[in-house]
Amino acid sequence: MSISKQELLNLAAEKEQELINLTSQLIRINSENPNGSQREVIDFVKNYLNEAGIENKEIAADETYPCVLAQMGSDEGFSMIINGHVDVVPAGDISKWKFDPFGGEITETQILGRGTSDMKAGVACTLFAMKLLKETGADLKGNIRLHIVSDEETGGAYGTKWLCEQGYADNAHACLVAEPTSNSTIEIGQKGSNELIIKSYGTPAHGSLGNYKGDNAILKLSKVLEGIGRLHTVKGKYDDSQLEALENSKFIAKNKLDVPGIENVIDRVTANVGIISGGNKLNMVPDYCEARVDIRLPIGVDVAEVEREIKGMIKDSGVSGVEYEVEWKKFGNSTPMDSSIVRTVKKHAEDLWGIKVLPAYQWASSDAAFYRIHGIPTIQYGPSNTEGIHSYNETVDIEDVLNASKIYLLTLCDLLGVQ
Ligand SMILES: [Zn+2]
Repeated sequence: MSISKQELLNLAAEKEQELINLTSQLIRINSENPNGSQREVIDFVKNYLNEAGIENKEIAADETYPCVLAQMGSDEGFSMIINGHVDVVPAGDISKWKFDPFGGEITETQILGRGTSDMKAGVACTLFAMKLLKETGADLKGNIRLHIVSDEETGGAYGTKWLCEQGYADNAHACLVAEPTSNSTIEIGQKGSNELIIKSYGTPAHGSLGNYKGDNAILKLSKVLEGIGRLHTVKGKYDDSQLEALENSKFIAKNKLDVPGIENVIDRVTANVGIISGGNKLNMVPDYCEARVDIRLPIGVDVAEVEREIKGMIKDSGVSGVEYEVEWKKFGNSTPMDSSIVRTVKKHAEDLWGIKVLPAYQWASSDAAFYRIHGIPTIQYGPSNTEGIHSYNETVDIEDVLNASKIYLLTLCDLLGVQ
């Protein structure tokens, strides 16, 4: 007789120290991106999989950023991808940390260090769940495909994006990305980030005659940028089946961010002027200036409407010699609320935590988008303490890690037919 879901759960509880140690071990391997190396952490993952008897291989679009693929189960049936990244953002100024970011210290309630939340704890939970299923010989009516990547923090070009382009995500029925979320949120959609470049052209002159001669490209562009706020009036479009998640998302944004009107960040275009460059010399009237703007598109937005506002902003500024350039590459994306992956994770998370768990859309974006573009229902759910992510003093709660591993395990059991 093959192992039951309950027996697996008991085993996970018995071996919880193993999971805690695994998380700590991953933290102790410095895998900063950029600046660091991914070699050691990738070798560690391969080694772990080998020892667990799980078939795996290393592939790479770029040698600096290797990926590990692993697979278990049968070729037929439900096919489930689990994704995690093992790169971490740099620790930065070490003097701002209260503990060694690469010490992997374990306290009474937490594991400490860079990457605990984003997202080595999540990776540890997935490795641990797969190992348990393997060593107990659970009868899977389908398969698990693990995608471990090492290039998420700098955009994913050599990681998930590449894996999807190469066909490694083909024919999957669901995908779970173990990125950090709050325990009461399942992320089921995101905005898409695009780069708009606004360029202004002027006429050079000697700086000493600036008020009389020449046409200052910096001043022209700054006048145009005064109107950037109008892009934020453009809204996304949602069908009836998306309204509940939209409402959840606004509720979460309001609660988490505590800024008046912040809920609009979810369903409206946002435009952030991130970089501006122009002028060559202090004593010259500049003849060129450009601004690079991060434009985030909500789900269902009409880009023609966004472009109309960009053109209107330039025209209404009254300045001439300004043009823009944009290639819309990333769009808002989402997974239906009633997908099996959303329902299953929600059920187990609610049971284990005893709280209400809300499927919602993110204002940011991540690797999940690449799977959704591929037509795969994809969610993010993972252990985290958000304060330290991409900042100092990153930690994760042990309780969060233990529960996440159980939620993953139960979800895999349900979707892959383990009773
Ligand atoms: Zn991450």
